[in-house]
Amino acid sequence: MAALMGQMMQMPLMISSLIVHAARHHGDIEIVSKRAEGDIHRTNWHDTELRSRKLAQALARLGCKSGDRVATLAWNGYRHLEIYYGSSGSQLVCHTINPRLFPEQIAWIANDAADKVLCFDLTFVPLLEKLAPVLTSVEKFVLMTDRAHMPASTGIPNLLCYEDLVNAENGDYMWPEFDENTASTICYTSGTTGHPKGAVYSHRSTLLHAYASALPDSMGCSAKDVILPVVPMFHVNAWGLPYSVPLVGAKFVFPGPHLDGKSLYELFEAEKVTFSAGVPTVWLGLINYAQQNDLKFSTFKRTVIGGSACPPTMMRTLEGRFGVEVIHAWGMTEMSPIGTLCKLKASHEKLDSEARHRLVEKQGRVVYGVDMMILDDDETPLPWDGKAFGNLVVRGPWIIENYFKSRTSPLVRVNGQDWFPTGDVATIDEDGYMQITDRSKDVIKSGGEWISSIELENIAMAHPAVHEAAAISCKHPKWGERPLLVVVKKPDVQATAVDLLGFFEGRIAKWQIPDDVVFVSEIPHTATGKIQKLKLRERFKEYRLPTA
Ligand code: AMP
Repeated sequence: MAALMGQMMQMPLMISSLIVHAARHHGDIEIVSKRAEGDIHRTNWHDTELRSRKLAQALARLGCKSGDRVATLAWNGYRHLEIYYGSSGSQLVCHTINPRLFPEQIAWIANDAADKVLCFDLTFVPLLEKLAPVLTSVEKFVLMTDRAHMPASTGIPNLLCYEDLVNAENGDYMWPEFDENTASTICYTSGTTGHPKGAVYSHRSTLLHAYASALPDSMGCSAKDVILPVVPMFHVNAWGLPYSVPLVGAKFVFPGPHLDGKSLYELFEAEKVTFSAGVPTVWLGLINYAQQNDLKFSTFKRTVIGGSACPPTMMRTLEGRFGVEVIHAWGMTEMSPIGTLCKLKASHEKLDSEARHRLVEKQGRVVYGVDMMILDDDETPLPWDGKAFGNLVVRGPWIIENYFKSRTSPLVRVNGQDWFPTGDVATIDEDGYMQITDRSKDVIKSGGEWISSIELENIAMAHPAVHEAAAISCKHPKWGERPLLVVVKKPDVQATAVDLLGFFEGRIAKWQIPDDVVFVSEIPHTATGKIQKLKLRERFKEYRLPTA
């Protein structure tokens, strides 16, 4: 017998519907940007939607056709937001490129994506002067500024002025409706080894992700919020905030290129920011600035921290000293990016404060829409007991099925279902709280036992003399590998290697304590602010541990 079909309207989930909603219901709510030009710019959802429509018209006039890629090399700002909507909304594909990558990587990515138009901030004029000749597919370069700020001459061919393009249009444009599975956006993974790989999101996946990430037990975005994404719009779409913020109609604040502690603090205060999101490294700068100047936040109440493990000391400082709730989150480019967030359940209210702290330090529960499991090396599911750790796999409608242009599927088949292998190693407890032990490549294997580099780093970060710490594996004749702790010290606090190793006593099993500590002036970071373990391992390849 034929199934009875639902009789609901067939309305495709379109990215443009988010900004139309924000313009109609929250039109006067502000979007404030600290610009690359240096000043503060103010607009609102009504005008942003109108300008996004004008941009869609301008892109069509430049010859863009359905599916063409519009790339950006840009900071967080209102023009970048307009490009998100003007491109995806008109059936083009928005491709945000991370400007912190090496120029050769940027060129490789732009050519791989076959970008047709490239829009960029003033900061990147020198970069584009160098790169333009090797960007083989780009037909038009658009400088995201007004006529007054256009440089007199550059070596960039076919250079257009963003404001001229937008101002030449009348906005008489209807957002089209089309198949919700159409590509909307491409983001490339940071690619620590080999070439970066493209994740192609659709309108449908982006909208479902926006719904799920705005929920109270996720990011908890509300129309009453003032939201400042410190996480760049070129890092997995600022974790989806450019979509979930118009979905709720909150005020949006963009820091542009001004990401130092002082600039961020002043913007948080001036614009009454309530909610933010970023990787742990950016919070180091902001916390240091606020502590050194004995400052408090007057409106800032909660922040999502993810991208790499948030050190528990950072969480406790933000909560204890500044009254800012930290929502620890985990995800990846391949997941749009949100997988889990750490929010307590009602049953946890009775836990004492220490137990509650230990729980919120985990990466958290999946949001509805994401399913996860941990597997052993034979791909057998492991128990959720908070102890067994294994390879974390996920599935869901905003998780990639394949990489851009790839012919081989990355998925693994378990019990008749396809799962995406994250490359992370994790535990899951009885309540479904996941905790990342390591990136599988970063795990330290000592005599057949695994030592979590994240756990070692979290302990080291709690020492008052440590500014930043990374634990890496070092070759050992007896144990195969042993942990080496690489530390950047705070300038004004004294500590020796012996002090630091002593600090681990009683905080971790004896055999897991690092064999040695080396002090360095700087720890290398990737373009998205993660510690570059591969580079550190290479640097200390020949390091002879005292125990060796
Ligand atoms: P990316 O796609 O560049 O955002 O990198 C994703 C990877 O970052 C994940 O697979 C994890 O290894 C790591 N990651 C993201 N969030 C966290 C977190 N909260 N704790 C530990 N690792 C994280």
